[in-house]
Parts: sequence; structure tokens; C-alpha cells
Amino acid sequence: MLACSVAGRMKHLAGGAEDLPAIGDWVCLEPGRDGKTGRIVDILPRKSRFIRKVAGGKTQAQVLATNVDIAFLVSGLDGELNPARIERYLVLAREGGAKPIVVLNKTDLCGDIEEAYRLASEAAPGIRLLAMSAKTRDGFAELEGLLKDGVTGALLGSSGVGKSSIVNLFFESERMKVTDTRDADGKGRHTTKHRELLLLPSGGMLIDTPGMRELGLWGEGTAVQEAFDDIEEIGTRCRFRDCHHNTEPGCAVLAALEDGSLDAARYESYQKLQREFEHLKGKYDVFSRLEAKRAAKRLSAIQKRWQKGEE
Ligand code: GDP
Ligand code: ZN
Repeated sequence: MLACSVAGRMKHLAGGAEDLPAIGDWVCLEPGRDGKTGRIVDILPRKSRFIRKVAGGKTQAQVLATNVDIAFLVSGLDGELNPARIERYLVLAREGGAKPIVVLNKTDLCGDIEEAYRLASEAAPGIRLLAMSAKTRDGFAELEGLLKDGVTGALLGSSGVGKSSIVNLFFESERMKVTDTRDADGKGRHTTKHRELLLLPSGGMLIDTPGMRELGLWGEGTAVQEAFDDIEEIGTRCRFRDCHHNTEPGCAVLAALEDGSLDAARYESYQKLQREFEHLKGKYDVFSRLEAKRAAKRLSAIQKRWQKGEE
């Protein structure tokens, strides 16, 4: 393990915080002579990335995690399952470029698992569902089996659904102390160190950062279409190609709502998420694909210079 700093020229060439190393990145580094330190000189291309806007309404992005293969969308079955929340996390996972898997935790507290399955699969059609209990370890083996051989996972979900408890299951000893103490605002307290990439005994990795737990929407919104491809499909039959499915005549989506073949709540979340992304697009279009391309160019320029040995 080396304590690393970011090379000066990398900081200099970075267009923003998103060009600097983040948790999950694979990097090139120059080891120091002392064997304990190193300098990060480059970041390898990212397979996926989770980004959020920096608090305070600035149009600044913070990279929360990169190279996440699987995003586990955790819900707790101790209360009522919230399909809208699952839909939201589904969009986030896809927007970040990770494969989503829905985890229904706390099966030991749930009387009607069938019903929970039904609700979850309605909210996440075609997405793999996994039910487990972090308390009894029931069903955990399936989750553990997915994080092998360098596969990186991340746990997403509201506070209290059992993310820390699940992390603990991977390790014999308690990795994080889960307490039953609750803050005044209802958020769980835990003693997680900030920003962690956990190497699991099963051979995979797990990214667990506080930021990942409170993901906001950030991105181009193409994932909304993917998550709601059933509605998009109906939309192909609208009279107008650019139909917003609001008030347009000949709208197939509105017709499906009318005849009950499309669920009203599902339509509502679809509309809401689309509006959120529209809003974001106008406000922060810093993360367009064009921008990503430019960043890649910048990185390769750094690489070339570095190869030539220029300081
Ligand atoms: P986090 O905020 O998502 O990290 O949730 P925690 O892991 O802190 O769990 C919140 C509370 O739920 C704690 O009191 C846990 O002991 C409890 N909990 C977590 N998973 C389960 C489960 O599968 N069954 C039961 N009965 N309780 C659980
Ligand atoms: Zn329409």
C-alpha cells in the first residue's frame, strides 16, 4: 500500500475535479524511492462513473466512484417497499454505467415476500432480484457469489436499509460498527471511514462511500428511457414523434393510461424523472459525451508527454 499524491502536471491539466483520481480508478503511478509513497501520473479510462453535483448549487461535479460493475440497489422489507425509489436508483445505476441488481434485504421481517417481489419486479422489469437477510445471512451467498474475481460492486440505497450490515457479512470480523443509535434526523450512524474500496475475501471489491449513499441525479438522462422502455415502446405509437405524452392528441401513452394498461404511478415517476433530467440538462451540461471525449484526449496528451519523459 502506497500513500500517493497527484502529480503536479496532472492537477494542472485537469479540467475539473472529475479529471482527478477518484475511488475505483486504476492509475499509473511512479513509486517513490522510500517504498511508501507514490505519485499518480495518469488515470486509465473509466468503465463507469458515478457523479454528483457539489452541494451548494454550484455547477461543479464530484466523482463519487468509478469502474463499478454492479450497483446493488438495496431496499429494506421492514416497511413498505417504495417502487418509486427503486426506479430512481435504477436510473442512477444505469446513468453511472453499472449493471443494476435489486436487493430486497430484511426478509426475516417480511410477511409477504411474494408481494415484495411482485412490486420490485414491476418497478424494475427485467432486472435481477435478490432477496436476503443480513441478520440471518439467508440469501447472502447469492450476492457474495456475484462479487468475485475483480468484479466491483457498490451498495446504493436509503439510510437504514442494511447496507453496512451487508458489508459486515463479507468479513469475519465486524468491518464497520453498525449501531442501533439513530440521529435526530433518522439517519443511521456508522463508523465507516470516508471513501472506501473494500477488498473482499471473495475476490471482488466493494465501493462503500457516504456519497454513493445519497446519489443525486446527474447525467444525460438516457437511462430514464432505458429504465422505462415499456413506456418508450408504447410511445412509438404516438402520432407525433417528439410527443411528450402530456396533452398531445393521438398520444398512445395517454391512451394506455386511460385504458389501464399502463400504471399511473409508473407513468408519474417516468414523467418526474424526465423533468428532473431536463432541468439538469439546462443547468449543467458539463458531462456531455463531447466533454468525455475531450477529457480522453487530454488524458492521452498527458500520456504522450509522459512517455516522452517531459516534466
Ligand atoms: P444502512 O444505513 O443502510 O447502512 O443500514 P444498517 O446496516 O445500519 O442497518 C440499519 C438497521 O437495520 C440496523 O439496526 C441493522 O441491525 C438492521 N438490519 C440490517 N439488515 C437487517 C436484516 O436483514 N434483518 C433485520 N431484522 N435487521 C436488519
Ligand atoms: Zn405520447
